Amino acid sequence: MSISEEVREQVRQRANYACEYCGVTETDAAGQLTIDHFHPQARGGTDAPDNLIYCCHRCNEYKADYWPQEPDAPLLWNPRLQAANTHFVELAGGELYAITATGTFTVNRLRLNRPPLIAHRLRRRQNADEQRLLARLHSVVNLLEQLHAQEAALLEEHRILLQEQRHVLRLLLNRQEPGGT
Ligand SMILES: [Zn+2]
Repeated sequence: MSISEEVREQVRQRANYACEYCGVTETDAAGQLTIDHFHPQARGGTDAPDNLIYCCHRCNEYKADYWPQEPDAPLLWNPRLQAANTHFVELAGGELYAITATGTFTVNRLRLNRPPLIAHRLRRRQNADEQRLLARLHSVVNLLEQLHAQEAALLEEHRILLQEQRHVLRLLLNRQEPGGT
């Protein structure tokens, strides 16, 4: 059975246009990603939206038709049911460190520490750092602008005050002049 365009769109949106396993986006891949059946159709999985995962070509290829056959066979991480941080920790170097058996199996099966993916995580982190810096820069510029506006208002008040003082001085001088002789 093929997935309707409507369901496909729903799965894309739900995944925020990124691979639910590795985080690569449509923008990174310069094209739409694939739809993975978490429980493979070949092993009895259905087209129900809950069983559909938005997935990049690489992850889909590595995952293939994996489905645990034996009761003690390792389980694959289901990103629709469990948060990534249940199974992995992202290290400073960009690698994923598995903290559960499912995490270890998933990292190995889907090659989640493939070098381009590590580079992708590092670049994303760098972008986030740059965004934070830019945001701080914006707030500093805003503050400077406010200061300038306050300074301009103060200067204007000062100018008016000087004008008034000059006016008063002139009045005083004028008053003194007739009787001064
Ligand atoms: Zn992926």
